[in-house]
Amino acid sequence: MAMPIPHRDLSKSNAQFQRAVKRLPLGVSSTFRYWGDDRTIYVHHGKGGRTWDIDGNNYVDYRLGYGPAILGYADDRVDEAARRGMEVGGVFALSTERELIVADRISKMVPAAELVRFSNSGTEAVMAALRLARAYTGRESYLLVEGGYHGLFDAAMWMSNMEEWDLGSNTDPELVPYGKGIPQTVKKLAHITPMNDFQRLEDVFARHGDTFAAMLIEPIQGNCCSIMAQAAYVQLARELCTKHGVMLIIDEVKSGFRVGKGGIQGIMGVTPDITTFAKAVANGYPISVVAGREEVMRTFRYGGASHGGTYTAHSVSLAAAEECLRILDETPALETLANYGERLKAGISDILNARKIVHSYTGHPSMFGLFFAETPPDNYRDWKTSDYSFYDQMAYYLHDLGVICEPDSREPWFMCEAHGLDETCLTDTLKAVDMAVDLTLQ
Ligand code: PLP
Repeated sequence: MAMPIPHRDLSKSNAQFQRAVKRLPLGVSSTFRYWGDDRTIYVHHGKGGRTWDIDGNNYVDYRLGYGPAILGYADDRVDEAARRGMEVGGVFALSTERELIVADRISKMVPAAELVRFSNSGTEAVMAALRLARAYTGRESYLLVEGGYHGLFDAAMWMSNMEEWDLGSNTDPELVPYGKGIPQTVKKLAHITPMNDFQRLEDVFARHGDTFAAMLIEPIQGNCCSIMAQAAYVQLARELCTKHGVMLIIDEVKSGFRVGKGGIQGIMGVTPDITTFAKAVANGYPISVVAGREEVMRTFRYGGASHGGTYTAHSVSLAAAEECLRILDETPALETLANYGERLKAGISDILNARKIVHSYTGHPSMFGLFFAETPPDNYRDWKTSDYSFYDQMAYYLHDLGVICEPDSREPWFMCEAHGLDETCLTDTLKAVDMAVDLTLQ
């Protein structure tokens, strides 16, 4: 007998959408929050590992704002610290003592972060990193890795033309922009290479390495199913960058202070010249970090690379960052959430194996991708050419059953400490997965 399709009341969200779309394009403030006219959710509040919508539905939430809520929503310890930051006064056209306290913590946790500068968003941090690399090297072009995402600025929004993938190894993949409004002239400076293709990496450096200011890489592609670079691939990138005088920028906006105290660079044993952090730094309060080698970072100076911003090092975000990083550094929070991720993966596998559904995982237990094939994808090309219809349908049912994962399989499932401290998150999720898989199989 066919299982009944779950019903979720979204009447208040639907009504809100009808009002909002008259004032906000697509009814949202970030295009990716639009899930269709009748499935776009408006949040009432979040607490711990769960989110409540305005209709009163509650969800175990594995999106966590695309990763920032590393401890969980509305964490009392961080929010209390943020309140102390509020009392200080917000933003000044001057510096505060807390900047050094937080910078010291970051340098202690990530040795490559010898010097530190604060910004507000991941986009700003990566923009600053690229500018810094250009100012330091005196070069302008740069290398991207397919499947990476580095923010909304023009230089970062390029991908390979999928129709031209079969080019021989001595040719550069053609670049196409992510959407309209990105000037073609920017393209002249950008190059791209497939992840984990060692030969092509050597080739592209042999052809253009001496013109690159930087190579940008996300060793766990938090915007492409958490596909992992092989450590040897990142080590080769390090060697080639050193040989050609290129700045290696490891973008840890998603992986930083999540996969481990020292980030993915610590796990892979690679020291970048420049690195960027954002999401998990302050449990969701807006702050980002560009950090790196002292000599390079000192290029931020009058007459050197320009960096600043009205809201940089805002006292609320800094106070939240001080407390969040203290917790991540001094308590077992990261172990708790990674352990939860392992148990969740094992539970999902039990359900899928019982139905003989072939699957595999990518990434790290704290941010994993679920893939319906025996071998997980090794690069964006593998991912792009895979069939994701089962995942898409399962995600759709999971939302109706009270579990929010990203409907787009590119985004990983994110864990937070609160998931690991509330056993009902696991039991509720697995119950929903069990049903969603059966519904998808129908
Ligand atoms: N870099 C990476 C690796 C990201 O995942 C993101 C956002 O998801 C960004 C940069 C841009 O960050 P933001 O959205 O805070 O501008």
